[in-house]
Amino acid sequence: MKKKLFFYITLIVCLGLLGFFGMSVFITYFDNLKIAKDTVIETAEILANFYTEDTDLSSFVKAGTETRITVIARDGRVLADSYPLDVSEMENHLHRSEIQAALRSAPSPYVRRSESLRIDHIYYALKVDSGESYVFIRAAIPVVNVDAYMSQSLTILVIFLFVIAMICFIFIRNMINKILEPISLIGKKMWMLLNGKYKAESVTVGCDEIDIILKEFDDLGIILQDNMNILRDEKNKLDYILDNIGDGLFVADESGEIALINSAALDIFSVTPDIIHKNLNYLVNEKMLIGAVEDCVTGGKGALFEIVLNGSIFLVTVKRLPGTRLTMVVLSNVTENRENAKRREDFFANASHELKTPLTAIIGFNELAALNNKDENIRKYIDSIKRETERMLSLITDMLKLSELTTTHDVNPEPVQLAKTVNEAREALLPAIERKSITFDVTGDAVISAESGHIYELVKNLVENAVRYNEEKGGVSVKIEKEKNAVQLLVVDNGIGISPEEQNRIFERFYRVEKSRSPRNGGTGLGLSIVKHICTLYGWKLSLKSKLGVGTEVSVTFSS
Ligand code: ADP
Repeated sequence: MKKKLFFYITLIVCLGLLGFFGMSVFITYFDNLKIAKDTVIETAEILANFYTEDTDLSSFVKAGTETRITVIARDGRVLADSYPLDVSEMENHLHRSEIQAALRSAPSPYVRRSESLRIDHIYYALKVDSGESYVFIRAAIPVVNVDAYMSQSLTILVIFLFVIAMICFIFIRNMINKILEPISLIGKKMWMLLNGKYKAESVTVGCDEIDIILKEFDDLGIILQDNMNILRDEKNKLDYILDNIGDGLFVADESGEIALINSAALDIFSVTPDIIHKNLNYLVNEKMLIGAVEDCVTGGKGALFEIVLNGSIFLVTVKRLPGTRLTMVVLSNVTENRENAKRREDFFANASHELKTPLTAIIGFNELAALNNKDENIRKYIDSIKRETERMLSLITDMLKLSELTTTHDVNPEPVQLAKTVNEAREALLPAIERKSITFDVTGDAVISAESGHIYELVKNLVENAVRYNEEKGGVSVKIEKEKNAVQLLVVDNGIGISPEEQNRIFERFYRVEKSRSPRNGGTGLGLSIVKHICTLYGWKLSLKSKLGVGTEVSVTFSS
């Protein structure tokens, strides 16, 4: 840049100087020529004034110092010449241009070659009366005189030109340095800024406007440097966090290219960091994942699903980053969770099975003992064993049902009449209903499609709770309502109700509001959990409204 600028400015200045030099030479030459012409005219005129018939020609022609003087007769013969020439030998001058011009009374200077001297001269002649006749008085200056003046002037001009060129050269170099200094200073500052090494230094270049710019650049640089440091720190922190979270994470831009990827994701997909800016297809060929990312990239639609990659199960979350067109994908390895859950379920099921057999035997032996024992004291213990073993059996039965529900994925639906199922459950609960003198009414009916055993479990658990957590002379009402595309079952009681804090937790396994009360009531803490699993299995909606001391309403919406 510096060299180019220097070259072009020097070129322009040199061309300017050469032009100026050429013009000067041209003007000076023609000035000198004009001066020479004026001199010959003036000399000829002065001599013409002094000339008389009696003039001594040999001394007359010597009057012009540097000028050649020639006196020519009217017939063209040369009478006298200031140059040491033999006039008798000289040619007739009558046809010389200057003589002809004088003859026409229109004298004018002429530049032409002297035949006798063989060099260019400026000639001027005047016709002067001489007694009865006339003569021509001619003045001439050799052009070489003009050229001699010129070469003198030229030398001065060349020296002048050289001096000017040198001054210009130094001036241009200083000027370019001066102009480029702030630019290279700003360039240096920008480099420092980009490399995080910016430090403000009050540099001035002696030009107010540029000094102001440098000062403002310094202020701006400090702010930018601070912001860049903050951003760099944030980025480092973010990179550190991203690389140290166990979940795989990558971000795709609007054209489906990978914009960001963390170490865990590189490991999951077995790729290297140069996957950045490459299309998603280079990362993975799992159709479900590619489809979900494309849906999110084009339509902003999020997704949550599981995929298996290299034998591991991943829970995949696909989301549009708020306020951007970027799609974020998080892959959480849930293989261990799933295996643990499976192990827990297996243990749950096995333990329940193992407990059920000896328990059934204990119940059988206890019944035998009851038959053979009439002693009131021993019967008290036998009744107590009966109560506890039955409770234990219902707990194990519930555990087995729950375990079966969590492992079941396929169902064999059949038409089930809801009101009939509710009445069957009511029959089973009749002792408790009568003991508490509870009013129980069923309204409406509908047929739904499900396994009858599942519907019975669902209805029985809801109705059992409505009776169990009710007061003496309370009321239970079961409503079956048909809606547009669904059937709704409502189990309403005016019992003890559930506080808002407990309402979210009562669907958890073994969760009981008052732990001491349920066993007494025959509860296991698994009833609502079974209901929830049945609803999840069929995709039905389960909801609960309750108020302490007022009652509870549980609804199930069976959607087809
Ligand atoms: P349990 O076998 O102990 O009844 P559930 O899972 O069926 O277990 O219910 C969990 C807890 O929710 C119960 O212990 C009880 O405190 C509360 N609950 C369930 N249904 C009702 C209801 N209709 N009214 C009041 N409390 C209820």
